[in-house]
Amino acid sequence: MANVISAPQFDAELLARYDTTGPRYTSYPTAPQFSDVFDERSLRAAIASSNEEPIPSALSIYVHVPFCLSPCFYCGCNRVITRDVGKADTYLGYLRREFERVAPLFDPDREVHQLHFGGGTPNFLDLPRMRKLLGSLRRHFNMSTHAEREFGIELDPRHADAEYVRGLAEAGMNRLSLGIQDFDPRVQQAVNRVQNIERVEEIMRGARACGFRSISVDLIYGLPYQNVDTFTRTLEQVILLNPDRIAAYSYAHLPQMFKAQRQLEAAALPDAATKLALFGRTLEMLTSAGYVYIGMDHFARADNELAFAQRAGTLQRNFQGYSTHRDCDIVGLGVSSISSIGPVYSQNTRDLKTYYNMIDGGRLPVVRGMELDEDDQIRRELINMLMCHGKIDKIRFAHRHRLLFDAYFSDDLERLEMLARDGLVEIDTRKIKVTERGWLLVRHVAMCFDRYLHQSGNQARFSRVI
Ligand code: SF4
Repeated sequence: MANVISAPQFDAELLARYDTTGPRYTSYPTAPQFSDVFDERSLRAAIASSNEEPIPSALSIYVHVPFCLSPCFYCGCNRVITRDVGKADTYLGYLRREFERVAPLFDPDREVHQLHFGGGTPNFLDLPRMRKLLGSLRRHFNMSTHAEREFGIELDPRHADAEYVRGLAEAGMNRLSLGIQDFDPRVQQAVNRVQNIERVEEIMRGARACGFRSISVDLIYGLPYQNVDTFTRTLEQVILLNPDRIAAYSYAHLPQMFKAQRQLEAAALPDAATKLALFGRTLEMLTSAGYVYIGMDHFARADNELAFAQRAGTLQRNFQGYSTHRDCDIVGLGVSSISSIGPVYSQNTRDLKTYYNMIDGGRLPVVRGMELDEDDQIRRELINMLMCHGKIDKIRFAHRHRLLFDAYFSDDLERLEMLARDGLVEIDTRKIKVTERGWLLVRHVAMCFDRYLHQSGNQARFSRVI
């Protein structure tokens, strides 16, 4: 089958028609299905049984650092705004205690191939604190030293420089992701995140000089005062910076859910047509500049490992978006983090005080999660294949899961028929294939197979597709 992924078709009328709410499928089932009936016993049991697999999976660790120095008004993350670095020391103490409790549950031979620091602002931690944190991870987990390891960190460029990234490289980090969002001064002021391009250049130069293997930047479209002309300038500047990957996220304005967003000037937000045009310009400029469209909001240089993984059919989707590492069990550490161990999702408390109390009480800070039943696991695999590769070989899939494809998915296929009539997918006896016209709407294709979404009222909890 030809690869549709690198050549998605932008059809504004079609995209506008399908611009409803829907999940991003960084997991299936999605987080709203997690339940508080799940507790640490279920997580411990899942880890024990993952150790018993004939070849236990490697590990991917996510560490959440919740602190930020100031609020960005578009933010929907779980974070604590503070200038008190002492708070970080308290948190690091509790994180170490969580490592001590979680690490011995895993077979010590299981290597950590992936590490990701997210937030909040991970570089709220200065270099000595970051080194200490990495040292502590190394003492407790079997951290890979292989060149292929992917050890990454999200950086706020306002609080980092070349020296900081050199220190990170010396401590074993080799990937970074920079939050840019937009270089336009008026937009930056409106979202309370003022930063200059010179600092971003300095960090990127420094990271390249000390061997960082992949540098990614984040942009957001749909912010106040953005228009196609201003965003074109930002895109030109980003292209000149030549990052290996670019994520261009659609801003989801949900002020009823995220307090910070109430400070945005709602009247200055671009309307739906402008937002679509912003996305269209992003797609056009990045693909003309040699970036491959990976899927959803992600672009990568053709020589980047993400583009290789897409071509090789090994691309994965997890809580951080698209990823190259197959079959890792994900260990989430810190407040609000999510683990994915075999057929289980487990989430830590989002509240800092509860996190500390649970650790003090000798517990793992798990408050919710989910054990996937057989149907969940089947659909998870199918949705992952659609989101990453845009196609399903029905015969092979049915054979692997010992089911009759058309009978098992009869309701789902009925929903999919409507998308087929609009030219988003092709369905025949052997395969389902997302078309070039449908690739930008692949979430809609996946949504047809989401058992929970079609239970009443569930769709309203998600952001808009564009
Ligand atoms: S966008 Fe990032 S830096 Fe800004 S407040 Fe949110 S988590 Fe902090």
